[in-house]
Amino acid sequence: MRLIERGSGSPRVAVVGGIHGDEPAGEAVVERLIADLKVDAGTVQLVIANEPALEADERFTETDLNRAFPGDPDSDDYEAVLATRVMQVLQGADAVLAIHTSRSVPPPFAIFSELTDPVRRTVTALPVEYVVDAGDLRSTTMDSMVPHTVSIEAGKQGSDEAVEFGTECAYAFLRAHGILRDSEPTFAPKQIVRAIEEVPKSGGDPHLYYHNFEAIPAGAVFAEDDEYTHRVESAGIVPILASEDGYDDIFGLYGEFDDTLDPPEEANVAQRTTDRTESGGNVARTEAEESVGTSPEADGS
Ligand SMILES: [Zn+2]
Repeated sequence: MRLIERGSGSPRVAVVGGIHGDEPAGEAVVERLIADLKVDAGTVQLVIANEPALEADERFTETDLNRAFPGDPDSDDYEAVLATRVMQVLQGADAVLAIHTSRSVPPPFAIFSELTDPVRRTVTALPVEYVVDAGDLRSTTMDSMVPHTVSIEAGKQGSDEAVEFGTECAYAFLRAHGILRDSEPTFAPKQIVRAIEEVPKSGGDPHLYYHNFEAIPAGAVFAEDDEYTHRVESAGIVPILASEDGYDDIFGLYGEFDDTLDPPEEANVAQRTTDRTESGGNVARTEAEESVGTSPEADGS
């Protein structure tokens, strides 16, 4: 694991790339930040997680790091030990952005498992239309085990577009949390898509008939291969991370449109206080400090 810190004090946020070794975009984004970033306030941790897997251009060396959290320091698996180190480094972080890519088709989207205030702030600042709530599904991923983490699926694995979009997301994230003050962060409501279940795949001539976030009509077949025919019975189901060749054992996920998520109240407050129109204002100062050190309990499911 490579860790570079920039700036000092709070808030402390992190950008993590290279969780999967066959997704070079995240590493490229972090390298760009290491080269270019000028921190205006607080601390940024820039992390390249799985260096041996990146070196080998493989998803992992022994076990999938993003299914190995919270990790096991005594394990023989490299990634299980690595997960504990990543947990230690990111402990107490006020917000974390993890950059991924996939073999799934666009649009890019964000994923969270627990909707904390910093997570709300992050996802409503990212230039994505859809945000997946994977809280019912994922218990061994980084976003489910490291508090205040948002993952971004930045685009096609190995594409230049994914590097560009991942960079754009990283800068939006750093502005949203006050690390960069070169321009005002922009927040917008987001459509939440709740992840419901994985769609199994057996191998052998896979076919996929609907794109990500495209409503599958009731009664239609979403995907099939030699063993499975996945017919969707009810209306309102959409594919997430769907691809024919992306994963060995699943076509992707089923999701369902949920509520729209509004930007946090304090996002607007923070923007208003920068124009200094109010008098006697020591009030806004403590807002960021209050969130430091609170660590919501994981439910362990
Ligand atoms: Zn990944």
